[in-house]
Formats: sequence, C-alpha cells, structure tokens
Amino acid sequence: MIHKRALKMEEGYPFFENTIDPGSGQVCNADVLESICQIAIREFAGDALSKELANYVNNKWDYPYINVNFRFSDKYVRNTFKAPTKRQIFSNLNRLMEEISDALKSGDIMCEPLDEIIDRIRGKMSENDSRSEKTFDPSLSDDVKRLREILSDCEVCNDAAGPRLSYWKGRLDRVYGGMRSLAAIRLGEFRSSKAKRKTGTITLYTTAIANSAKAQAIPFETVFFSTLIHEYFHALHYQLFKQQGIEDRWSEKWCDGERRIVQETLAAFYEWYSCEYGFLLAEHPNAHELASHLMENWESLDIDLWPYSGALVLADRVNNSPTLGKLFFRLLEMSFTNWSLAAKAIKSLYYMPLTGLGKVELDLDRYKP
Ligand SMILES: [Zn+2]
Repeated sequence: MIHKRALKMEEGYPFFENTIDPGSGQVCNADVLESICQIAIREFAGDALSKELANYVNNKWDYPYINVNFRFSDKYVRNTFKAPTKRQIFSNLNRLMEEISDALKSGDIMCEPLDEIIDRIRGKMSENDSRSEKTFDPSLSDDVKRLREILSDCEVCNDAAGPRLSYWKGRLDRVYGGMRSLAAIRLGEFRSSKAKRKTGTITLYTTAIANSAKAQAIPFETVFFSTLIHEYFHALHYQLFKQQGIEDRWSEKWCDGERRIVQETLAAFYEWYSCEYGFLLAEHPNAHELASHLMENWESLDIDLWPYSGALVLADRVNNSPTLGKLFFRLLEMSFTNWSLAAKAIKSLYYMPLTGLGKVELDLDRYKP
C-alpha cells in the first residue's frame, strides 16, 4: 500500500525510484505512478491551494469529488494556442533585420557585433526554411535573444539612434515571444468527461516534463507535481461546472481564446501559488525557483500568445492580500456565467501599469456578471 507520506521529500520518494526515470521521464510502472498521482490529488483536495479556497468552495458548492484517471505519455505535443505561424515570424524578423542592416550600411548606427549576429541569423533562417512548417533550430531563438542584447548595448554608443533602437527592441521582443510560443511543448493536459461519475483524464507528458526540469535545473518531481497541480485545478474547475449542470459551457467554442485565458489564468495562478506559498510543494526542492520561472515566463510572453500570462494579475509576491484572493474567486465565479466578461476583466488588469496598485484598487463590482 502506498502511504501519502511517500509524497514527501524526506521519505526520499521510495516509489518514484522504480516507477519512473527522472532523467528521461520514462515510465517503468504506470500503475504505481497512477497511485502516487491519486494520492497527490487527494492531498490537494484536503488542503487545496490554501484553506481559504477549500472553505470558499465548500461554502458555495459542495466540494467536488474529483474522479480522474491518469495517462502518461512520452510524446511531444505542441501547444495549440494561437501562435503566429513560422512564416509570419520569419518575415517579421527578416523585415526588421533589413531595417537594421540599412541603418548599418548608411552609417546611422555603428556596431560590428550587429553585423555578425544578423549574418548568423540569416544563415540559420535559410537552412530552417526547408524544415517543417512548425519547427526550427532552437538555437535560432537564442540568437534572436543575443541580437536583442546587442541592440541594448548599442544604445550606449549610438546616442542619436536611441528611439529607433528601442522601437526595434520592442518588435524583436514580439518575434522572440512568437518563437517561444510556437516552440512550446505541453507538459500536461486535462480532458473533461461527460460521464456521470467521472471528471476526466489527466495526461502527464513525462518526457517533456523531464526535459523541462533539466532545462530549468529543477528536480523532476517538483515539475511533475506542479504540472499535476495545474491539471488538477482544471479538473476541479470543470467539476464545479458539472455540479451546476453547465458542463457544456466548459468547452464553448465561440469564445475560445477568451475561455482559455480564463481557464489558464486560474490554473497557472493555482500552480504558482502552490509553488510560492506551497502546501504540498513546500516540501519539494526548488519550488520557489519554479514559481520564479513561471512568473518570468508570463512576464516575457504576451497574454494573447500565452494565456497563462493572465496569472500576472493575481500573482503577487509582496502582497498576498485578501483582495487578490477575492479577485481569484470573483474570476472563478464569473467563469461560470460568462467567459468573455471574465477574460475582459483579466485583460483590463493585465494592461494596467504593473504597479500593484491597479490590482488592489480595481472596482470588482464593475465586473459583476
Ligand atoms: Zn492548463
């Protein structure tokens, strides 16, 4: 029998050892791994997000009994958000580099490293053109990042070109964001079920999780459980729809983009909160670092490309205030009646200057459904 304490770090994950290879994400014993996941979500249910969430949910609706099964997959699945196409990204990047090259040729700006990096990017782009419509050499986005840094340095020695350089940097940020969202690989997924006694299926892409953990230098189990928490929140959210008999609205198509902003904002915040203020994850190594990485990600990708970035309006390191908690629940409630209105509330906060004040002073009643 697997005891829930198996989830704790000091126990050394006795069941992980023969269950999954943390280096490659290869699953050796799916049944045991499924049991570990089931124990984990019961733990979340008992101590969900914070006592606050459990109480809040309990007061309004019966706390949902979540009945999910787990699938583990070593596949790489790209996200299906509305990322710009590779063609669009490449053509924007080309246009931008042409403008910079012209400025270099005419002597408006002087910068040797710029010449070099532009040549390198052009070379890689022509090699990449023949590849598939979606993939490109990942080192290309590193070069784009490098170009961005050189443009910044360039401001120091090219005083007069300042405004132009910052304009280019802004455009380059969008190109870079587009590249990253096009290249993003899914770590987990929740599929809802209409069956009476079932919530749905959670898929964990274990190889993708192992790679993501490696790239972030964070232990496998931390990324694994944080992905699980994210997907668990989707299940919880859906089960609340189901309990109110409105499960058809969960995957409403007409407001797809807005719906995903709301779903992912709440799930991403829930995941972040668990890492930052953690209950289960408080016992996992590097959870705080993972929380920082999540936030850096949201900060560097626009909400329209990356619906998770909406969590920035909720996540606040300094001020874990009741108002923000209220906002989380308000958005949750709004999601039951109107995805579009809830997304508008998130976006209007998102586009407020990020002073922190904007979050607190929001007149929540304006968004009453
Ligand atoms: Zn999600």
